[in-house]
Amino acid sequence: MKLVLVSCCAPCSAGAIKQLASGEIAGVDDFIVLFFNPNIWPESEYTRRMNEQVKYCEKLGVKYAIGEYNHDAWHAAVRGLEAEPERGNRCSVCFAYRFEYAKKFARENGYDAVASVFGVSRHKDQHQVDTAAESAPGDTEYLPIKWDENLRVQINRESDFYRQNYCGCEFSIRTVSNLSFLSSCKNL
Ligand code: SF4
Repeated sequence: MKLVLVSCCAPCSAGAIKQLASGEIAGVDDFIVLFFNPNIWPESEYTRRMNEQVKYCEKLGVKYAIGEYNHDAWHAAVRGLEAEPERGNRCSVCFAYRFEYAKKFARENGYDAVASVFGVSRHKDQHQVDTAAESAPGDTEYLPIKWDENLRVQINRESDFYRQNYCGCEFSIRTVSNLSFLSSCKNL
């Protein structure tokens, strides 16, 4: 099976990529890391996270692809949900938006399935991510792989990854300023 791994950032995906690269995920013969995150704002932050993702993929010698960055289109998709809390409906739409793109990418590029690292942080709801993936348009299979949490933590401790202190969109920055949210990537 050829898999598309949808990634939000290097710290969250480090363990999953290592597992895939070492061939320990049964049934996966080939994979590519897809960085498609038009949710991230501002663009300078997007670029910083993307560069960190690329650096890690190149270090491990794995294939990667960068999706289109169109924050206005993403913003239109979540319109009306700006005030939702993290893990609320805006996040379900945000996940589904990215999975729809990933399924289309998989179909157009000869991949059989998609998986993600969107739910690895303890600040995320894996069930919400899985539900969004299943409901996203497109008939590409979704694999709800449970990644090795210990490996992810270990790699992060040993690395000097750039670690953001908010999820990605401008609405999650607001949540940070209210001190009700701690970074999804700092608390490893
Ligand atoms: S908080 Fe994160 S998952 Fe939720 S809408 Fe914003 S970027 Fe997407």
